[in-house]
Amino acid sequence: MDNKFPGKDITSEDLKTKFPLSSSIHPKKKIKISDNIIFDEQTVPVVAGPNGIENKELIFKCCEILEKNNLKLLRGQIYKPLTFPYRSKKYFEVGDEGLKILEEVKKNFDVLIVSEVMEIEKLDMMKDFVDVFQIGARNMQNFPLITATAKLKKPIILKRHFGCSIRDLLGAAEYALIEKNENIILCERGVASSHTHKSTSRFMLDIQAIPALKDYSCLPIISDPSHACFWHEWVESLTLASLAAGANGLMIEFHPDPRNAAVDPLQAINFEEFNFLIKKLRSLASVLNKKII
Ligand code: PEP
Ligand code: MN
Repeated sequence: MDNKFPGKDITSEDLKTKFPLSSSIHPKKKIKISDNIIFDEQTVPVVAGPNGIENKELIFKCCEILEKNNLKLLRGQIYKPLTFPYRSKKYFEVGDEGLKILEEVKKNFDVLIVSEVMEIEKLDMMKDFVDVFQIGARNMQNFPLITATAKLKKPIILKRHFGCSIRDLLGAAEYALIEKNENIILCERGVASSHTHKSTSRFMLDIQAIPALKDYSCLPIISDPSHACFWHEWVESLTLASLAAGANGLMIEFHPDPRNAAVDPLQAINFEEFNFLIKKLRSLASVLNKKII
């Protein structure tokens, strides 16, 4: 590929005006997952579910809650990037076995599955069961993984690394866009800050990233307050704040028995809290002339 910027840096102005994602030369993209599920300024899809799918019984219960709330996008994580490897077997991802569970989910529920891919080698096995690939924060600059995933032409949720700038995230998204996969959704999930690893929170949700990313790019931006703050008690207010700040979608972790969840037991909300949050989101959305789907 030609070097379009020989001997120059890419400036903020370039970001806004010269790239496949630049806001000033492209209309806002509507990312369509299915006929009814579109990430845009009018409809705000909620991706929800447990941190990892753990087992069939758990994920079926979660799908029932999604259906009761008229939501369609399930967090169906089978491969998990865990910060420490020192946990009992129970805490590890379900891995390849999870593909069978995803297959059963598809047979039994009218939900679409968002699932994280960590290795290029797994893409082929995953592609029949996964509707939206997630590239997690830790792989945000794994360019070969982004390129290989983009080639499948399915929608991708690209999460911002907790130590990366907005410019870095936009640069990573360009790797997918130059593969002619325009179905890219950016995700803010908290940044390293003075809050990091203190008892006050794990990361800090960068609310400002929402308008900033919308200013620079034509891609939709979603927010994942669960991973940002780490405390289930704070998820409701940060979710509502994200919607108010203009998020085009939301990712929320819930679990029937959060404190006994296999991974990140402190950040998931329970079913009752989830139902209540969705009600509140719907009220706020109606004030903003948007619809939670
Ligand atoms: C996740 O969504 O399961 C996850 C690990 O998120 P992040 O990459 O944002 O840490
Ligand atoms: Mn997690």
